[in-house]
Amino acid sequence: MRWPDGVTCPRCGSREVTRLSTRKKWQCKACRYQFSVTAGTIFHKTYVDLPRWMMALWLMCHSPKGISSKQLERELGVTYKTAWYMTHRIRQAMIADRAEVRLSGVVEIDDAVVRADGGKATGNVLHGAKNVIGLTSRDTGALRMVVVENLQRQEIRRVVFNNLGTVRHIMSDATSRYDFLGQIAPHSFVAHYIAWAEDGVHTGFIENAWSLFKRGLVGIFHHVSAKYLQDYLDEFCFRYSHRHEKPRLMDLVLASC
Ligand SMILES: [Zn+2]
Repeated sequence: MRWPDGVTCPRCGSREVTRLSTRKKWQCKACRYQFSVTAGTIFHKTYVDLPRWMMALWLMCHSPKGISSKQLERELGVTYKTAWYMTHRIRQAMIADRAEVRLSGVVEIDDAVVRADGGKATGNVLHGAKNVIGLTSRDTGALRMVVVENLQRQEIRRVVFNNLGTVRHIMSDATSRYDFLGQIAPHSFVAHYIAWAEDGVHTGFIENAWSLFKRGLVGIFHHVSAKYLQDYLDEFCFRYSHRHEKPRLMDLVLASC
């Protein structure tokens, strides 16, 4: 499945390869590189066998709320350290998937505070509280959540420009920080203190995604450090964006190459 048109050297792209039958490997005639089918993928140079990797992928893609390293440790019979490493590698492949597609059509934007590091508080200071901007397309169901330094216009602008494609209409709440969106696309907003939705203008889709994510954070992962919060958001967005599709396991495997 990795090389539908014939084995190709992952290093130089040459098709001139020799099979080393005794070692389940190939050698490139052009650059002499010896490689296996997992070379350059997330499975490369690990002591975990491929059936376990496939099970880990399946569990991470198909559990509606995701799966913790602790659960994976139990399911696969590997050490916690190995399970942690596997979940992080799989998340990297999910990030690769994310980079490809931009949101289009009718898009909702909203922000939320996510408590990483278990949300511990010292006095009045809440540690690990991060601002996150969320965007979702009503047309495709695709979702993005991006950790930002602050909620100033410049940061919001950066996220919007990095993630939006052809937008027909953009919707937000009535917060003034979203005023500038009208310069990018037709923009409507709803003042939540007046009504939840007016004439189809609402941010219900993105709010639904927030509540799902926050429940998952509390119920499954317990303690997500601020350092890895973006990775967890990417994983969540991957599953959420593809929730109506057939299993994309092999796409994910191949995206990791
Ligand atoms: Zn080569």
